[in-house]
Amino acid sequence: MSVRVRFAPSPTGHVHIGNIRAAIFNWLFARHEGGAFLLRVEDTDLERSTPEAIATLLEVMEWLGLDFDEKPPLYQTSQRHRHLAAAEQLLAQGDAYRDSKGGEGEAVVFRIPFDAERIPGVVNVGPIDVPVHPDVPVTVSDKGVGYAGVSAKGTPAPGGACLAGCKDLQVFAADGTCLFSLAGKEKAILRGDESFTLPGATRLHFTRRTIMYRDLVKGEMNKPLDSMRDVVIVRSDGSPVFHLANVVDDITQGITHIIRGDDHVENTFRHIMLFVCLGAAPPAYGHLPMIVNAAGKPYSKRDGDAFVGDFRDRGFLPEALFNYLTLLGWSPGDDREKMTRAELVKAFSLNRVQHASAQMDIQKLTNLNGQYIAELPEEDFFVRCRERLSGFEWGRDLDERLLREVCLLMHSRLKVFADVEQWQYFFVDFPEYDAKLCAKQCRDDAVIAALRSLPAKLASIEPFTATALEEVIAAAAAATGVAPGKLNQPLRAAVTGSGIGAGIFETLEVIGKERTLARLKAEQWLPQK
Ligand code: GLU
Repeated sequence: MSVRVRFAPSPTGHVHIGNIRAAIFNWLFARHEGGAFLLRVEDTDLERSTPEAIATLLEVMEWLGLDFDEKPPLYQTSQRHRHLAAAEQLLAQGDAYRDSKGGEGEAVVFRIPFDAERIPGVVNVGPIDVPVHPDVPVTVSDKGVGYAGVSAKGTPAPGGACLAGCKDLQVFAADGTCLFSLAGKEKAILRGDESFTLPGATRLHFTRRTIMYRDLVKGEMNKPLDSMRDVVIVRSDGSPVFHLANVVDDITQGITHIIRGDDHVENTFRHIMLFVCLGAAPPAYGHLPMIVNAAGKPYSKRDGDAFVGDFRDRGFLPEALFNYLTLLGWSPGDDREKMTRAELVKAFSLNRVQHASAQMDIQKLTNLNGQYIAELPEEDFFVRCRERLSGFEWGRDLDERLLREVCLLMHSRLKVFADVEQWQYFFVDFPEYDAKLCAKQCRDDAVIAALRSLPAKLASIEPFTATALEEVIAAAAAATGVAPGKLNQPLRAAVTGSGIGAGIFETLEVIGKERTLARLKAEQWLPQK
């Protein structure tokens, strides 16, 4: 059977890198296997799923080259009739019931199957005892077992389980009297014909069952049925709930593998049951580790750029972001880090997705982006820089010859296009001086003397080249007793106002004689006394 996977985002206007990484892994898996990669827009939250939000999602996917098959994408809202039909089917089969939950209108609730053995992966674990608080009566009905547990302080603690979670249930009082036994009453209870309220109980005794599935990333996953409750699948206003819509759409789209964030692990157990009850084989599941910050907490906007649009706006290249995100939680099994899309497709496999959470490292992404920028053809780089620079007041209508020289000098150094903002000193008469930097670099008397001696010495250099500058500046430093090389950073601060950049002599060559001399002479770099 050919592989069919999907990316099923809920469009909210911002696409988080964790979400898009799920899309990338699905895409890589599909392309590696020669299967289909589908897009399903889970747009049932009508307040947040605006046309703009959907447009943003599609733009971001296109920008990253995440082409999907079987266009147009499936919009979840268009499938409402199928979701409701599935709910009717579950009701008719006895796998769901209507419940008013004390409110207006009736919700449809999916019943964890009492005959859970028909769900693959469900096993009997053995007998178990659960203490319950005697102040809260135990209730047994077709909607499950209601009880309060006992907290560490001895007070009632919220509890309760689906009926399927309490197979062979017996309820006992403190003196050991059996207040209730489920044996023989299952059918009548499930039909809703009988229900029980049992005051004074202190202990439940039942056969624990668990549901297990083998996650393609996380391995064997288990959940006891007594930790589950029946779940609403159609709200009382008639709208289908995520669990139902998600599963029905996966059935409709013939999805074979679900690869998504591990915040959905808990849902998966119920989803498997829904698949089976709806007569479909559950797909294989792989849950991706979370992306975290340096402190190990979920990576969010507070930690820095977190949405794909942020990275695009800052001038990251899509290929670099794509490459970096593949390495966030996956590795090719060797030490390759910079990989082309074709190499990634070839190397991708789910069994090398790591189990532990993946730490976002912006510096690493930035360096990788720098490598991709360095590979851009010169003309492409020039056009992108010009476009970026035109966003600044001082960056419009720049002299093309000068801009080309700057681009040549800076190409191998630029890591993100947003950083062209730091190039202002190439284009204006006087740069903005960083007072702290100048105070640090230009405070020494010998350094100040050397800088003051430079205008006279540099004036005669013709042509004003890096090689000639290097020689004259070294001599000027020596003459004022400044150690070799120790004048370079003060000189950079004095002429560019900045502490970083390309080699200082090459930089001065591009800035040119006239501006270099004017800046040195104006002494705006001199620390204020
Ligand atoms: N809309 C859900 C989400 O974005 C989909 C989860 C899934 O992939 O099944 O979290």
